Amino acid sequence: MRIFRPFLASGWLFPGALFRIKTGEKLLCITFDDGPNQISTPAILKTLEEQNIKALFFCKGENAERYPHLIQRILKEGHLTGNHSYSHPDGWFTGVKQYTDDVEKAAKYIPGRYFRPPYGRLKIGQYLKLRSCYKIVFWDIMPYDFDNTFSREETLGVLLRLIRPGSVIALHDSEMSSSPLFLDSFIREARGRGYKFILPE
Ligand SMILES: [Zn+2]
Repeated sequence: MRIFRPFLASGWLFPGALFRIKTGEKLLCITFDDGPNQISTPAILKTLEEQNIKALFFCKGENAERYPHLIQRILKEGHLTGNHSYSHPDGWFTGVKQYTDDVEKAAKYIPGRYFRPPYGRLKIGQYLKLRSCYKIVFWDIMPYDFDNTFSREETLGVLLRLIRPGSVIALHDSEMSSSPLFLDSFIREARGRGYKFILPE
């Protein structure tokens, strides 16, 4: 079963975290997890530049360490980077200290004050530690662009069906992601419906 929105209780468990921007206006925020990547990052940046949109890249420390020039390019082109941990641990199965050490290690390679937990899984203890240094960002829609059994048309369909004012959209910046293939169509279609794209505050 694919679940495109976070569970309702998540907002209650993590009251200071961002799931959806509070606005009545047709504003959307696009985020990309797991990069940077030599193949997908340049493709995504090209579309964003052509469409004149800024996005938030939640990078994995391992990849940021390997491709520092891509981190520099993301920032130089006006986008933001956020911390997505160093080694992508699952918060539910990782101790608080081990988890926050991993995030701290990633921070050496990724500037920014945003953090997104891998898999969206975070224990309360980890949340309480991290929220003093980071704005924790979950999402309003995750359309399974990373799932190669889910076609790009299906992914695009989910996005177009579920967007609403303030949606934070979680896409992926990785070789298996279908995002580079539908990003341009999605942006054009959403704009046609009156949506604008912004970064979080
Ligand atoms: Zn991830």
